Amino acid sequence: MAATERTLVLLKPDAVARGLTGRLVQRFEDAGLKIVGLKMKQMDADFTRRHYFDLEERFGKTVYDATAAYMQQGPVVALVLEGVDAVANVRRLIGPTFPDQAAPGTIRGDFAHMSKAYAEGAGKAIANLVHASGSVDEAKYEVQLWFGDDEQFDYQTVAERYVF
Ligand code: ADP
Repeated sequence: MAATERTLVLLKPDAVARGLTGRLVQRFEDAGLKIVGLKMKQMDADFTRRHYFDLEERFGKTVYDATAAYMQQGPVVALVLEGVDAVANVRRLIGPTFPDQAAPGTIRGDFAHMSKAYAEGAGKAIANLVHASGSVDEAKYEVQLWFGDDEQFDYQTVAERYVF
């Protein structure tokens, strides 16, 4: 049976600075996902390392350093979202990592267009607006890292009657 899950979403510094917070949160609410946690945070070097603990191992120091600098450019908005298969469903709504490969209708496809080749050539991070947990295990780790139990809320939404 499909399970109700919690997943972590970050609206990255480019999304916040571009004034897209409301429009992006709206997309998740429109899909019937339930906001069970929400806050703004300025990431520092230590916290960035804890969030992206395996990024350097996966892609090397250049990508890690560019991504870490990008994530600390300004505040992020963090959300815990709950819903049916929320981890996979939120990934579907945001689209793949590189915006030029993300279909219209996804957040990354609608609000960005940068390619991997451009980012690597320019030594830049991929400014792709949002982060979302990549697997159920990653979601468990990330939700705990970002939100204490007292920062996650239980309440009833109308979506729970009609969407899940
Ligand atoms: P996702 O955010 O889609 O889960 P990853 O976990 O693979 O993607 O990578 C984390 C973040 O690191 C990406 O969202 C992006 O900002 C950055 N990144 C990944 N690969 C590259 C790359 N080749 N060049 C620049 N930045 C990258």
